[in-house]
Amino acid sequence: MFSSIWNYKCPRCRKGDLYIKPFNVKEPVKMPERCEVCGQKTMPEPGFYYGAMFISYILTGWIALIIVGGCMYFLDFSVNQAFLVLIVVAILSYFFVLRLSRSVWIHIAVKYDKDRDKELDKK
Ligand SMILES: [Zn+2]
Repeated sequence: MFSSIWNYKCPRCRKGDLYIKPFNVKEPVKMPERCEVCGQKTMPEPGFYYGAMFISYILTGWIALIIVGGCMYFLDFSVNQAFLVLIVVAILSYFFVLRLSRSVWIHIAVKYDKDRDKELDKK
């Protein structure tokens, strides 16, 4: 499951891609309407991804804590230096966190169904 979240795979079949490739900076979270493998909707309901913002807050909070703590403790940075590093990392990881939190959110909402492929094959 974690590798499926990490690789932005469809939560149901874990084979289809959750985001349209290749990565486009102008549309960082552009998704196909449905999973190309199992037909799972990537937008189960309007406003579905508002919940993903909470995941993103939690992720960002932990990353910030680790970066600032790590810089000050291990690298002996001042508070200002540590926050400068944090801002740079936050900018660089913005799209990554955004995509990852949406991926986590849909994996919570949609259950894995490994028999789904077989059902489609029979039809
Ligand atoms: Zn799928």
